[in-house]
Amino acid sequence: MNRPPNPDVLLQPRPPSPLQEVRDERFDGYGVRLLLKRDDLVHPELPGNKWRKLAPNLRAAVAAGHDGLVTFGGAYSNHLRATAAAGRLLGLRTVGVVRGDELAGRPLNDSLARCAADGMRLHFVSRSDYRRKAEPQVLAQLVDAAGASGAYVVPEGGSNALALRGCAELGRELRGRANVAAVACGTGGTLAGLAAGLGPGQRALGVPVLAGGFLGPEIRSLQALAFGGPAGEWSLAEDFHHGGYARVPPALEAFAADFEDRHRLPVERIYVAKLLWALTRLTACGTFPHGTVLAAVVTGRP
Ligand SMILES: *Cc1c(COP(=O)(O)O)cnc(C)c1O
Repeated sequence: MNRPPNPDVLLQPRPPSPLQEVRDERFDGYGVRLLLKRDDLVHPELPGNKWRKLAPNLRAAVAAGHDGLVTFGGAYSNHLRATAAAGRLLGLRTVGVVRGDELAGRPLNDSLARCAADGMRLHFVSRSDYRRKAEPQVLAQLVDAAGASGAYVVPEGGSNALALRGCAELGRELRGRANVAAVACGTGGTLAGLAAGLGPGQRALGVPVLAGGFLGPEIRSLQALAFGGPAGEWSLAEDFHHGGYARVPPALEAFAADFEDRHRLPVERIYVAKLLWALTRLTACGTFPHGTVLAAVVTGRP
């Protein structure tokens, strides 16, 4: 790329994202206050947790003199898109290793087309290679085959130790503002960092959007990596994945559209809709004592 890196645009600390109260009888009726932590507004091109997780990695990549970034994701990965945008903004080349070599000959979907338009080179790999990418040898081969040697490696979903520390800042922004800070989980990195940043008496609640119930151990090992051990109070509400990643059954779609109408909030369907649905259900079940202040982290936008 010809443009010199301009880290300031992306890398400087930003003011806390807004915290907005919404009035909704599905919460008011149970004495629960619902606040929306508008992380979707934190950066125009890298919304929400993608900015929280990438910014410390971008600082590290630039400081170490890397000329590019390489990362990993599925065909609809918000993380790939955010990395591609970051590369364009910083003048770093980007390579995306995409799960599924059957996609290679096909037209790109909207998400991958955006990555490509931002200059990301897409390298499609088989699902079995993709699964083994945490093995150092496989990783080295993949990076080499993708033409990304020398690039700064960001893991899938961007959840490494630096990313978790970026997400801890989200928790610190919520200190003293809520009893429970709730967030949708993919890799669980955002929850792991958020929990670590919260203050005494606060806890984090994660809503996994993938089926399978494997996330608890993942979050513990991410916290061990970033903080040396368990950090903060957190738990998971496992029953709100609606069939799995990117599944949006009609009832969830209707719920999200209704929430948008009521509160003028653009509701991202893959993560944020499942979070808001879960909070509505848990509230109706009496999970939160009267007087609870809930902060729902709006991690992205449609
Ligand atoms: C990526 C993403 C998440 C999941 O974050 P993890 O740290 O992987 O759990 C949540 N919400 C949105 C909108 C995302 O794009």
